[in-house]
Amino acid sequence: EFVEFNKFFNRIIDRFEMSKSQKVEFKRYLPEESYFVEIDTDKLTQVIDNIISNAMKYSPDGGNIRFGVTVQENLLKVMISDDGMGIPKENVGRIFDRFYRVDRARARSMGGTGLGLAIAKEMIEAHGGNIWAESEEGVGTTIFFTLPYELDEAGEWD
Ligand code: ATP
Ligand code: MG
Repeated sequence: EFVEFNKFFNRIIDRFEMSKSQKVEFKRYLPEESYFVEIDTDKLTQVIDNIISNAMKYSPDGGNIRFGVTVQENLLKVMISDDGMGIPKENVGRIFDRFYRVDRARARSMGGTGLGLAIAKEMIEAHGGNIWAESEEGVGTTIFFTLPYELDEAGEWD
């Protein structure tokens, strides 16, 4: 399915923003231009839902969640960034592994299976993109992913 990425992304962010009970603030940094992506919208919704849920779940004290989209050659680079508890340096590389959760005691009290980001990695790679994380313990986490885009709905460059 061809969708305009900002419209698709905004609709997901809106859904979280309307239903959130936390004091967290959402900030959007999205381009003015239209970028079309050919995606399985159900699967990409699941990926973005998990990343936003994580950002909220692991930011118990609130703060901002920032949503950004930039363009790098033929790829959109999407960023979802939080001011939460962060991830220790030695563990960042493992959060996309199946069933991996940082700090089992803390994780147990927060629910979840540790599958969300493993599924996200599979889905993003199946769409021709990459996904990675940057994080600092006690400061926050940013999840990045890329997706190939087209400049019009016909899937042609102009
Ligand atoms: P599930 O998504 O299956 O319900 P989960 O959220 O624990 O469970 P993932 O989404 O795969 O699993 O995330 C894996 C682990 O990475 C989490 O348990 C958490 O320790 C860490 N993590 C993920 N996102 C963040 C974040 N934004 N801030 C801090 N830690 C995070
Ligand atoms: Mg999760």
